[in-house]
Amino acid sequence: MSCFCFLVDQKTKIRRSKPVAGTCSRCRSSARVADMMTQTRFCYVPVNSKYWKAIICSFCGAILKSYRQASY
Ligand SMILES: [Zn+2]
Repeated sequence: MSCFCFLVDQKTKIRRSKPVAGTCSRCRSSARVADMMTQTRFCYVPVNSKYWKAIICSFCGAILKSYRQASY
């Protein structure tokens, strides 16, 4: 039987962000709206990228709210 090495990982990056009204529920810092990108890699080769929006905390980085985008 052959041995297959499956190596799948996901990377989430903040592409850009800007201040938005609201505060973090954890640390009370100001919230930011961010364009996020999640890239799925298979054996270090990017196979899928997903773009989405999220409200994140500028201080602790918590994701307060996320929006799935219809278009990829
Ligand atoms: Zn916070």
